[in-house]
Amino acid sequence: MSLLNDLLEFNEKFVESGAYKKFTTTKSPDKKMVLVSCMDTRLTELSTKALGLKNGDIKHIQNAGGMISHPYGSTMRSILVAVYMLGADEVVIMGHHDCGFGALEPGPMMKEMEDRGVSPEVFHTLKHSGIDIEEWLSGFDTVEESVSENVGKVRQHPLMVSDVPVHGLVISPDDGKVDLIVDGYKNS
Ligand SMILES: [Zn+2]
Repeated sequence: MSLLNDLLEFNEKFVESGAYKKFTTTKSPDKKMVLVSCMDTRLTELSTKALGLKNGDIKHIQNAGGMISHPYGSTMRSILVAVYMLGADEVVIMGHHDCGFGALEPGPMMKEMEDRGVSPEVFHTLKHSGIDIEEWLSGFDTVEESVSENVGKVRQHPLMVSDVPVHGLVISPDDGKVDLIVDGYKNS
């Protein structure tokens, strides 16, 4: 496992040399904002740099598609923690063009699971337990629709603060251009 060794080896020098010092910040986001965006590698740095955000400015939640897939899942919980406990006063949901999750179809991924050792019976068991794996592994039609839907899920969440604006943006992974989909100030 040489990747892990490389990581740990680097880390030892990183700490020893004091390289961590330039990343020192607090737990509360300076810009009082929480951003939900996709885990796409092209956006790891671009999603914040394109908005002029630096280390310490925001709470940043990243997952496949930048989705709120369940009202009581970990993404929604993280948003609520950011708002109630860490001083985030605005929420931004940012999708992106050419999203790998958006294009996801359940069939090929379930086949891949089977090829790598998951028994087809597991799919049946999940179905009988009320888990619609096909829906769970389905992407979205358009990123604009997906962003609007996710903004709605946060806005309408029964545990959400009603006067916290929830904005919707779409970013291009090619040049970082951001388009406004939902202006949260108009809905709060
Ligand atoms: Zn994506």
